Amino acid sequence: MATKKYISDGQTSKRVVVCGGGVTGVCTAYFLAKKGIAVTLVEKSAVACVASGKAGAMEAQSLAEELNGVESYGYRPVTTLSLTVKESSKPISGGSDLPAWIDGPVKSPSTIGTTETTAQVHPQLFTRKLLSTATKKYGVEVVIGKLEEVRVELGRVDSVLLEGGRVIDTDAVVLAMGPWSVYLLIQIRYQAILNRLRFSRDEENARVKAEQA
Ligand SMILES: Cc1cc2nc3c(=O)[nH]c(=O)nc-3n(C[C@H](O)[C@H](O)[C@H](O)COP(=O)(O)OP(=O)(O)OC[C@H]3O[C@@H](n4cnc5c(N)ncnc54)[C@H](O)[C@@H]3O)c2cc1C
Repeated sequence: MATKKYISDGQTSKRVVVCGGGVTGVCTAYFLAKKGIAVTLVEKSAVACVASGKAGAMEAQSLAEELNGVESYGYRPVTTLSLTVKESSKPISGGSDLPAWIDGPVKSPSTIGTTETTAQVHPQLFTRKLLSTATKKYGVEVVIGKLEEVRVELGRVDSVLLEGGRVIDTDAVVLAMGPWSVYLLIQIRYQAILNRLRFSRDEENARVKAEQA
């Protein structure tokens, strides 16, 4: 197994493996790497290939300037409303701050964002642009592979095992695999229980040996 710690500028830094190339994993990888942490992102098939490629995709303004959002992923400031519209054959008449195209009776309207604070983006382009910036600017490594197991040694995460046998050493793991994360969580809990049982058994054996000596 390769050395556990990664040295940069004379300091020992940590390596984090982020599992899942959706918007959650990519944002996590981006911001960790921006802080100088060595990050490997593991994605089973393709970046933003499931929910993160299909969302309505509202994004806050802060990243758009940094990533040239208007050109690279269709960043478009919008006013964001929350309301319920009932179907009606009669158009509603004026006196409302709502847009003209809302043409049914409205329940509990509220503004949850303005063009100053919210915008719509193309979700897949956004996620992919963020990851390509993270790789080029902050050195995030991308591995296409399926996470099979998170290995825990003495109560600490030690490495991850990918389908096909590749092992990546790490100091921490972020599970950002959407609905698939739960399977790995079960596996980690199960492994922790087994380790505890093994530890208790070894302790008991040592005690018995000491008594017999
Ligand atoms: C039609 C639609 C509209 C939506 N609209 C909005 C909206 O307007 N606003 C909003 O906030 N949210 C919206 N959502 C929800 C939003 O899309 C999700 O909450 C978000 O994309 C989840 O991202 P994620 O990164 O957590 O998971 P995912 O996008 O599901 O990514 C998980 C990734 O993990 C990978 N993976 C799975 N198993 C493994 C494994 N064993 N090893 C390695 N990788 C693995 C998958 O391939 C996938 O790429 C919408 C969702 C849909 C479907």
